[in-house]
Amino acid sequence: MELAPRRHGRLRAVVMGTLFGLTLACAFVASLDANDTKEVKAKRESVWKAFTGEDGEWTKLGKPAPGDWLARFPEEGETFEEYVEEMKDGRPTPTSRIVFVPLGDFAKDHAELMKLMQEYSEVFFAIKTEVAPARALPPKAFAKSRGQYNGDKILNLLAKERPEDAIAYVAFTDQDLYSPGLNFVFGEGSEEDRVGVWSISRLGDPPELLARRTLQLMNHEVGHIFGIDHCIFYECSMDGSNSLEEGDRHPIHFCPLDEKKLAWFFGFETPAHYRKLSAFYKTHGLAGEAPFLDRVLERVGK
Ligand SMILES: [Zn+2]
Ligand SMILES: [Zn+2]
Repeated sequence: MELAPRRHGRLRAVVMGTLFGLTLACAFVASLDANDTKEVKAKRESVWKAFTGEDGEWTKLGKPAPGDWLARFPEEGETFEEYVEEMKDGRPTPTSRIVFVPLGDFAKDHAELMKLMQEYSEVFFAIKTEVAPARALPPKAFAKSRGQYNGDKILNLLAKERPEDAIAYVAFTDQDLYSPGLNFVFGEGSEEDRVGVWSISRLGDPPELLARRTLQLMNHEVGHIFGIDHCIFYECSMDGSNSLEEGDRHPIHFCPLDEKKLAWFFGFETPAHYRKLSAFYKTHGLAGEAPFLDRVLERVGK
């Protein structure tokens, strides 16, 4: 079963697997107004130029290789203006927060990863991120014959209990997930309901690789919850991935266009954002992710 390419709108989506390999897909939503001051807009544009000028720091996405996401799903992409138009009524309020919900023993067995995700989320999205008390995996979502949990059913439960001020309500598990019609999914989410559920069960073992993939999956999927479509313009964490290997080729952070969307959505400034991100990567054994950020900071002035 194929996933319909995401259009501009509030579609529901999945991160899924196919019989022929792993397929990352997705979907999602969110909300503010467009009343940024001239000064804020000018700062954003100067960062944009530092990224994308002739000797800019970012790599445009080349022609997809056979088997790549864009070879399979030729998506249209979404401009900054289209994003602002779609999300102008949905930006966060001062009380908005992200809430992570550990399922089963996830928080106990993967305490460091949970803490890493929480800290990363607060840096990456510049918004308070809480970890809710662990809750049991819902027995009704377990398909005994497959030995997997039905992600659709978990999403429906999450949608019913999402607190009003949780701008993203995301569950994590180490149990394998599926969605009817698919042999497995990495996770799935609803842009409309602002909920998601993701599993680390297929992300591999080496701690550094697991951490990178988990953080990348998290910012990509939560990015969808905040209405950011797949990127077709640059090498970017918001690029669709048809396999873990393709995902590993993508940067862990957002390209200039998606960074611009995020900065507008949350009302932060990219230089401050990058300083915090760079420090985070250096502190948590992901130093390889930091040089790019540091180069951009040099260009825009610290
Ligand atoms: Zn996606
Ligand atoms: Zn991008």
